[in-house]
Amino acid sequence: MSCWRRGCRYLWSLAMNQWHRALVRHDGKVVVMNRSTRKPEGYELTVSPIYAGLCRTDIQMLRGLRDDPSPILGHEGIARVAEVGKDVPANLALGTLVCLNPTHRSDPAFLLGHNVEGLLQENVLIPAIAVRDGLVMPLSTVHHSATATLLEPLAAVDYAFELLSDHNTDTLVVFGDGVIGHLAVRDAADKLVAGIRIQHLHHTEQGLAWSRRYEAGAAQCILNNAAGTALLSSLSEGARVAVLIATPRNATLACLETALRYIRGEIRINLLGGYQQMLLRLCYLVSS
Ligand SMILES: [Zn+2]
Repeated sequence: MSCWRRGCRYLWSLAMNQWHRALVRHDGKVVVMNRSTRKPEGYELTVSPIYAGLCRTDIQMLRGLRDDPSPILGHEGIARVAEVGKDVPANLALGTLVCLNPTHRSDPAFLLGHNVEGLLQENVLIPAIAVRDGLVMPLSTVHHSATATLLEPLAAVDYAFELLSDHNTDTLVVFGDGVIGHLAVRDAADKLVAGIRIQHLHHTEQGLAWSRRYEAGAAQCILNNAAGTALLSSLSEGARVAVLIATPRNATLACLETALRYIRGEIRINLLGGYQQMLLRLCYLVSS
């Protein structure tokens, strides 16, 4: 094909395609790039994000501490439906305000902003499986605010409390002072039991200072050091303790060890922050 024809074909494809801007991980940096905007088909739809949060999981990905492959991050946020495939249900019509559950319950192939391109772009194609299985949820317009980005981590906290609900907890120990940790100490009295005793262990002095400035009820805030372990040891053998480990995953095992070593009483632990499989394999090898 001649250069002239090739040039014409390129210009034609530029004219036919739509483009949108995206924050793309590229060569260890994040850059603004133009991406082609594909039309949704069948159960697919596209959304235009309004607010998208950046949580510690995203920061771990940016620092190369996780190997999630998506070049575009963003799994917490609200958006408007921008275009729909022909099979999309009527409650997700054009213009509907929605939030997205980034995690499919049974299909690991859909993890928004992890292995599927996320919300840090002007236009996001949502795959059919996410639409069909109810991961795109219509919202009332009262949620049209930046704080709606907390819906997803709050849902994770509520689910964790649901799993702890039959433990008759009287004490909650939270490791971690990121978004999840802070939401948990603020939500516990409502979702677990009124008047619950809360111990909140922090990673840094700065985090502790922040918590003391923006107090959350009766939570005892302390650093996760000797003072923290002394506080944990002060719980009686009769205490019924729920432990939420909401730290970055490379800190999970150390916190788990601290909880098991220092907390007496009836204990139930939720590893909300996940774990590094490699570390667990290593522990298994060491112990076997
Ligand atoms: Zn997150």
